[in-house]
Amino acid sequence: MIIPDEIQARDDYKACASFHGHTCMGLTLGYLAAKLAMQHLEERRALDEELVCIAETDACCCDAIQVLTGCTFGKGNLIYHDIGKMAFTFTSRSSGIGVRLAMRPNVMNVPEKEKLLAEKIRALEATTQEISEYEELHQNRSRSLFDQGPAAFFSLQEISLKMPAKARIAPSILCDGCSEPVMMTKLQEIDGQQLCRTCKDKRNRDEGGD
Ligand SMILES: [Zn+2]
Ligand SMILES: [Zn+2]
Repeated sequence: MIIPDEIQARDDYKACASFHGHTCMGLTLGYLAAKLAMQHLEERRALDEELVCIAETDACCCDAIQVLTGCTFGKGNLIYHDIGKMAFTFTSRSSGIGVRLAMRPNVMNVPEKEKLLAEKIRALEATTQEISEYEELHQNRSRSLFDQGPAAFFSLQEISLKMPAKARIAPSILCDGCSEPVMMTKLQEIDGQQLCRTCKDKRNRDEGGD
């Protein structure tokens, strides 16, 4: 897929690219998803935790989501579900009303002709004419998708969800194992000691070993 120059020239796209470190199709898909969702929800950038995003992937696209929607890992309003789909659910924390966007299957569809030419090019067996034929097919496919706008890439479905409570921050106390400060709700009691997860795992390993 070829990212059109007019998208790469936009200030909000540049902000995503600078946060992410490079431009790529994954970032661009996240950019398109965020634009489509925000437009649909008529929400402004979430200032605190109003808007919540559940991402079903943790790939490049999530960086554009963080920049454009204000749903971030640090604020706890970007929630990762390890499903492996290019899909995002955006809801308002208060109403629970929102949308789920999922990448349309046709985005991945490469016509047979283009696939054959790509294989030939990879095998270094393509003629100059076949290379330019491939480039034209590839460019036209990208162009026709991007010309239709974000809705060509993502389907959109209205949903209503009960949202998780706001992220809580508890005071930290020292772990009895390593003496490092740990959020107290994360400590676990083992043999009368309050241990962090790392120390608990280490103790289990030591006890499990011969
Ligand atoms: Zn990337
Ligand atoms: Zn510890």
